[in-house]
Amino acid sequence: MRYISTRGQAPELDFAGVLLAGLAVDGGLYMPREWPRFSPADLRALRGLPYPELAARVIAPFVGDSVSFAELQAACHKAYAGFASKAVTPLVQVDTNLYALELFHGPTLAFKDLALQLVGHLFELVLAKRGEKVRIVGATSGDTGSAAIEAVANRENIDITILHPFGKTSEVQRRQMTSVAAGNVLNVAVDGTFDDCQDLVKAMFADGEFRAEMNLSAVNSINFARIAGQIPYYVYAALNLGAPEREVAVSVPTGNFGNILAAWAAKQMGLPIARFIVGSNRNDILARFLAANDMSVQGVAPSLSPSMDIQVSSNFERLLFEFLGRDAALTAQTMTGFRQSGKMAVADEAWRAITRDFKGYRLSDDDTLKEIKRFWAESEYLADPHSVIALAAGRDLGPIGMPVIVAGTAHPAKFPDAIEQAVGIRPPLPHHLSDLYERQERFTRAPNDLTAIETLVRNFANRNK
Ligand SMILES: *Cc1c(COP(=O)(O)O)cnc(C)c1O
Repeated sequence: MRYISTRGQAPELDFAGVLLAGLAVDGGLYMPREWPRFSPADLRALRGLPYPELAARVIAPFVGDSVSFAELQAACHKAYAGFASKAVTPLVQVDTNLYALELFHGPTLAFKDLALQLVGHLFELVLAKRGEKVRIVGATSGDTGSAAIEAVANRENIDITILHPFGKTSEVQRRQMTSVAAGNVLNVAVDGTFDDCQDLVKAMFADGEFRAEMNLSAVNSINFARIAGQIPYYVYAALNLGAPEREVAVSVPTGNFGNILAAWAAKQMGLPIARFIVGSNRNDILARFLAANDMSVQGVAPSLSPSMDIQVSSNFERLLFEFLGRDAALTAQTMTGFRQSGKMAVADEAWRAITRDFKGYRLSDDDTLKEIKRFWAESEYLADPHSVIALAAGRDLGPIGMPVIVAGTAHPAKFPDAIEQAVGIRPPLPHHLSDLYERQERFTRAPNDLTAIETLVRNFANRNK
């Protein structure tokens, strides 16, 4: 499988190249040159397989010959062995035709573990083949840092340094990062804000000499390998609800548009998904776009569902590229214009085509709490403030008589304050995290200073020399 950039000016790469590169050099995002197709018979053959087996078969065409099928299979088994549910992504019926696909039984209790756990193993395989070492650096305000650390802890040929703002993350979030006992993990608490941390990471990447010396890498959300790792659970859920003979809809609480794009990719591969419902909080750029072709940037306002507090959804570029007929020049021009003006000019014809399949939905914080309470009262289903938006959206916008797969993206115990506010109980942490508050923490405190941070990363890289 070969990959092309949405902006058409970067070299084609194979899967291993895309995995290590992340973003394309022309600023675009990598996409497969064509979508692999599964016939109805191919899909039926996946029914009833254990999740890691199903995942290996769905992901195999994307990986091509970058790793062997046996290696991919082993990676999938290892990636999902630590999940708290044997089903990996259990499907729970919440109402007539409304199903929660629980994607939060991994180590950090959020759906990002599904892709990142696998990506950690794939990095290790590809680096071993190439005889390379990488140093991943990243900044976090809380959640992505812990998922990235869990993904590469103890993986060979990878070091990871995550910067977080000292004293400005929640205790659960901090402990999830700093209590991972792995020799290749360096947590740095910076005396500054999250934006300072992000600027420091950007500055490290911009320092060409340092970047080359350290072979810096990122596991950011625009890596196509992460999209690939999110396709199997839609296949798994749809097969369980009667596909390929029966159509389904999906409803996804959306931030950077990666999760729902994976569902759309599943449709290109042959899965009969008739509708895509995009859930948003008060940061509703996608809902405004789908309602009225208004993709205009506004400031980010904090909400009860922080992982959806976005200004711009980076993976939307991939959908745009497809609906512009894969015209890379037009995609590049649209994205550049968007960056300059803060408003995306999407041709009316493309907008109408997108809105035939995609519907937007928005909930305020008040209504989010009301819906948590309502699903708890009516279905005894306790949903976190992200997932509940997609549950309400699926109930209100699902086609009559068609099952709706709702992406459950976080465990309710990750957001105990909001849950307590809504229903008066604090959900306990699941068993595998119940000792989180007793675990030993390890982090290094550092000033908001590029030289100081680069020295830490370099010394860490040379720790065994
Ligand atoms: C990351 C995240 C989202 C948003 O997913 P995207 O792929 O960025 O759209 C939603 N909910 C939770 C809990 C998340 O962690």
